[in-house]
Amino acid sequence: METTNIAQNPRAGLPLSLARLGELSQNLWWSWTLEARQLFETIDPTLWFLTQHNPVKLLADVKPERLARLAEDPSYLRQYSAVIKLFDQYLANGHSWFSTQHAASLKETIAYFSAEFGLHTSIPIYSGGLGILAGDHCKEASDLGVPLVGIGFMYPQGYFRQRISAEGWQEAAYAAFNRAESPIHPALTPSGEPCRIAVEIGGRTVAAVVWKVQVGRVPLYLIDTDVPENTPEHRALSARLYGGDQEMRLCQEILLGIGGVRVLRNLGIAPSVWHANEGHSAFLTLERLREFMQAGTSHAEASEIVRQSTVFTTHTPVPAGHDVFPHHLMDKYFSGFWDQIGLSREEFLGLGETPESRGQGFNMTALVMRLSAHLNGVSREHGRVSRQMWQHFWPGLPVEQVPIRSITNGIHAPTWISPDLHRLYSKSLSPMWAESCDDPAMWQRVADIPDHELWAVRQTMKRKLMGFIRERVRSGWMQGMLHPSQVLARGTLLDPEALTIGFARRFATYKRATLLFADLDRLKRLLHDQWRPVQLIFAGKAHPADEPGRYFIHEVMSYCQDHKLGGQVAFLEDYEMHMAKYLVQGVDIWLNTPRFPMEASGTSGMKAALNGALHFSVLDGWWQEGYNGANGWGIQPLADGDVDVQDRHDADQLYRLLEQEVVPLYYQRDIDGIPRGWLQLVKESIRTVAPVFCTKRMVKDYVEMLYTPAMARTPTIW
Ligand SMILES: *Cc1c(COP(=O)(O)O)cnc(C)c1O
Repeated sequence: METTNIAQNPRAGLPLSLARLGELSQNLWWSWTLEARQLFETIDPTLWFLTQHNPVKLLADVKPERLARLAEDPSYLRQYSAVIKLFDQYLANGHSWFSTQHAASLKETIAYFSAEFGLHTSIPIYSGGLGILAGDHCKEASDLGVPLVGIGFMYPQGYFRQRISAEGWQEAAYAAFNRAESPIHPALTPSGEPCRIAVEIGGRTVAAVVWKVQVGRVPLYLIDTDVPENTPEHRALSARLYGGDQEMRLCQEILLGIGGVRVLRNLGIAPSVWHANEGHSAFLTLERLREFMQAGTSHAEASEIVRQSTVFTTHTPVPAGHDVFPHHLMDKYFSGFWDQIGLSREEFLGLGETPESRGQGFNMTALVMRLSAHLNGVSREHGRVSRQMWQHFWPGLPVEQVPIRSITNGIHAPTWISPDLHRLYSKSLSPMWAESCDDPAMWQRVADIPDHELWAVRQTMKRKLMGFIRERVRSGWMQGMLHPSQVLARGTLLDPEALTIGFARRFATYKRATLLFADLDRLKRLLHDQWRPVQLIFAGKAHPADEPGRYFIHEVMSYCQDHKLGGQVAFLEDYEMHMAKYLVQGVDIWLNTPRFPMEASGTSGMKAALNGALHFSVLDGWWQEGYNGANGWGIQPLADGDVDVQDRHDADQLYRLLEQEVVPLYYQRDIDGIPRGWLQLVKESIRTVAPVFCTKRMVKDYVEMLYTPAMARTPTIW
């Protein structure tokens, strides 16, 4: 695997003694390394804040005099040398977990395909959970030394930015983002040429360039069709994430799957494992079949090799989450292709068939299920649901034996931990706590953290959230973009002393953002208790085409703007990673109310728990296995009943637990003003959640359960 760190575009004008700041800003390693973050922050704390923690932009905007002064500041130079040393040691990859545990496989490469990657807010090529998971997977692969490369899209306009109108409606705005302000560079072939590919789409050749983002030791390659020789419509193919209609989506998936394989070939990378993160990249299996058959392998043999070396992760039990393309579109884009893989039209269309879609469409999940021998869902419950969903692929096999395993999602702890708590963990657990994140024994020591220290840090984190909210509103207000009522609806009246509940996620209706408002009088009694007030913070985007989701946002906005609710319900505009960090770090309770069993896993609650917030959720997804009765709160879903009955039941449980347990416990203080009982739960939550629901545990599982078996290639056919 490549571990180049070419001093890409070092900023002209960096003082010699700080010359490698440019290189450091171009490798996202800085983003999860506290010392490196501080190194940039120290340059100019105000610019750091204004650039939303973007060192590339900071270095471009900082005054040269300031850099010149730092270049002669002995204490800054010491800090600089220490970070550069850490960086070099990290890149040298000497003692990584993978190099010691799987030394024999060090020469292998795992290609990880995903339609979105959530790495940092300065690279807006993700929409939500799927992308964040992919980003965290790459960061952890880098930390563990796993030889992985990522393949995805550039999306010159990224995902949409959310604006909420004065009337409370979500509006979607797209704007080209400035690559010069992000750590993105042309990917080069082994001979030093810019990497380019061509893919035939609907009878025309579409050209694409390839960009590279360096994620620690892991390179990520991003396809971009915005090149002059393409037609305007093809130039726009990769412009936006989830932006077009079904046909556009099909073309994007052809580019990702088929084009992605060609990118790797062009770069001289020969993966032994091909991981499709969700079905969007499933066509990679077809391109590999084509390659083998062109080289003279039989269809049966080629299929078996592809199967044995392909890993597939499914991410949702919601049918709309699985792409199904109508046959007339498949005819338009694949006639001519099926001959190349030795299939008739009927056989080809059969690859994408399910009992439900028979004759009606080509299901991408079905395709990759047929051509992958290493399958998993993303939580225990989701594994179980997926085995049921896909049981018909293995006729006669009892459902427990259906070969879809489960690897529960996790989060990359160094990315999501608050700096304040990071320091407390370093002091109380171990200076290397993040490296041992999956070690339950280390987390036992959480019990020894003095309550008053933990409480003080938690209060600081909460004040930082309130400050973040206020400054965002102030900046919108000063740009003349907000009506006075919007200023009040966006959290400026929040009180850092009050019990604060956060609810931030995609506004898909199954996530039921409005469940808390099911009984408005009961909710008002909770919010406006003068001695024990409660406040709510909402954030999240609805897909622009999701009308019911947009109505949910509008409904929540109507409560935020209702003066009778006193500004104690707030909606924060344009949820993304940067805001997510403040939210998961600053609230007291992280609420999740999906309709069972629709939440495959969820990860935001893990981020909250790592940061000492308590998770309160329907027992679905990861929480079904994470909840132990003493580390947060759970709502036991009804096994059956229609959705109205379920909603009423879940809302009633939610209110009851808030009234009887959550609020009293939070406000039960000792003589020093410390909520001892609450902190007991916080510590239990950190102790039990952190070691299990982290990517260190998760990526090790991927290596051991799926990647290593796929490398072994034990074909059953020959
Ligand atoms: C973590 C995260 C998500 C995923 O959270 P869920 O629990 O799956 O809802 C989505 N968006 C952002 C910005 C995140 O940070």
